[in-house]
Amino acid sequence: MSDYLEKIKAQIPNIQPFAGKYAEPVEGSYITYTGPGQLKVPDKVVIGYIEGDGTGPEVAYAAIKVANAAVERAYGKSRRVLWYEVLVGSKAEKILGSRLPDQSVEVLKKIRVFLKAPLETPVGGGFRSLNVTLRQIFDLYANIRPVKYFPGLPSPLKRPESVDLVIFRENTEDVYMGIEWPWNSPEAAKVREFLRRELKVDIRDDAGIGIKPISKFGTQRIARLALKFAVENKRRVVTIMHKGNIQKYTEGAFRDWAYEVAKNEFRDHVVLEEELAQYGGKVPPGKILVNDRIADNMLQQLLTRTGEYDVILAPNLNGDYVSDEAAGLVGGLGVAPGIDVGDWGMMAEPVHGTAPKYTGKNYVNPTATILALELLFRFIGWREAADLITRGVSKAYSEGYFTGDLARQMTDEERKVVKEVLGTQEFAEKVAEIIKTEL
Ligand code: NAP
Repeated sequence: MSDYLEKIKAQIPNIQPFAGKYAEPVEGSYITYTGPGQLKVPDKVVIGYIEGDGTGPEVAYAAIKVANAAVERAYGKSRRVLWYEVLVGSKAEKILGSRLPDQSVEVLKKIRVFLKAPLETPVGGGFRSLNVTLRQIFDLYANIRPVKYFPGLPSPLKRPESVDLVIFRENTEDVYMGIEWPWNSPEAAKVREFLRRELKVDIRDDAGIGIKPISKFGTQRIARLALKFAVENKRRVVTIMHKGNIQKYTEGAFRDWAYEVAKNEFRDHVVLEEELAQYGGKVPPGKILVNDRIADNMLQQLLTRTGEYDVILAPNLNGDYVSDEAAGLVGGLGVAPGIDVGDWGMMAEPVHGTAPKYTGKNYVNPTATILALELLFRFIGWREAADLITRGVSKAYSEGYFTGDLARQMTDEERKVVKEVLGTQEFAEKVAEIIKTEL
C-alpha cells in the first residue's frame, strides 16, 4: 500500500507532505479574510489537505492531480496552489499521538481553507466524529452539496438530465446538537417533571427526550449564504424545505426567517411565489423564485418533478435526508461532493466515507473528491479552474470512461456507452488529460 501511495505522491510536485514536524510552507501564502465571508486569495496560495483514512489518500491525491491540471490550464503560470498536508485521523494518531492534535488545529486555523478526505470514526468507545469536531471548531455552519447529472451516469430516473441541484444544509443546530436523554435517566425525569409542573405538559414516564433548537441567527446566516450563491451563480429557484406544518416554532420559524432574509436583503433579486400572480404567474426575467415546500411532499416531488428544484435550503435533519436522496439520483456516493462553509473558513470533502475494504486497491471513484475541489475553487473565486474541472469530468463520462462502482450499477443498455472501466488513479489522469488537451 505505502509503495503505491509513495508513487502517486512522487508524481505531484506541488505538495508539501508532513515531514516530522510542521514547517513553513515552501512557497505561496495563506488565504486571509477581511470580514465575514470576505476572502482574499493570493495567486500563489497555500491550501491544506488531510489525507484521510482507508481509501482517503487515494482519492485525495487523485483529485489534487485533476485540480492542478485545471489551474495550469486556466491560469498558466500566473496562479499556483501549494497543497500543504495537515495530519488528522489515524495517521495523526500514529505520528503525533492524537487523532486531532492541537498542532494540526493551529495549522488549520492559519490555512483556513482545506480539503478533507474521509476519516474513519471507530465504532464504540465514545469516540467523537472528527468530521463533526472539525465543523464545530471552525464554525462551518453550511454544508453545501451540489448534485448534478453527468450524461452516461447510471440513474433510476427517466429524465436524469433534469437533476442540477445545490443543497444548503444547516450544519450546527437542530437535533444534531445531540441534546437528548435516555428515558430512564435522571435528566429525562427532571425534564418531564419540569414540563409537568411548569408547563402542564404530560409526557409518558418511559419516553426518551430530545431537544431541537433552531435559531433565527443560525437560520438567517445560512439563508443569506444560499441566496447570495443563487444570485452570484444565476440560479433559478431557491426552495425552503421544512416541516413547519407540524413543528411550527422550529421548522416553521426556519421558513419564516429565511423568507425574511430574501425580502429584506435580496429584494431586487427575488420574487416570492405568493407574488407571482402580479406577474401573470411567471417569474420575471433575471429574478430568482423563492418558494417553500413541506419536506415529505418535497422528497417525493424530487423524483416526480425533479426539474422544478434548483437551490434547496434546509435545516440540518431535512438536509441530511434530501442530500442522500439526491445523490442516489445521479450515481450515488462515488460522485457526491460537499463543502462546509463558515464565515472564516471552509472544508471541502467527498460525502462518502473511507470505504475501507477497497484500501490500496485503486478501485474507488475519485469523482466526489475531484468535485469537492471544484467546489473549493468556486468558493474561493477561481471559477475558471472550477468550470474546467466540471467540464473535464463530464467529458470523461460522455466519452465512456467510468470507474467500477458506476459500471456495476449500469443496465445492459447503459453499459453500451462504456469504453473503459478505469481505476482510481487512471480515471483522475484521464480527466486531467482531457482538461489539458481537449478543453
Ligand atoms: P463508506 O465508507 O462511504 O462506504 C460504504 C460503501 O459505499 C462502500 O463499501 C462502497 O460500496 C461505497 N463507496 C463509498 N465511497 C465510494 C467511492 N469513492 N467509490 C466507490 N464506492 C464507494 O461508508 P461506511 O462503510 O459506512 O463507513 C466507513 C468509514 O467511513 C467509517 O469509519 C465511517 O465513520 C467513515 N465515514 C466518514 C465520512 C467522512 O469522513 N465524511 C463519511 C461517512 C463515513 P460497495 O461496498 O457497494 O462497493
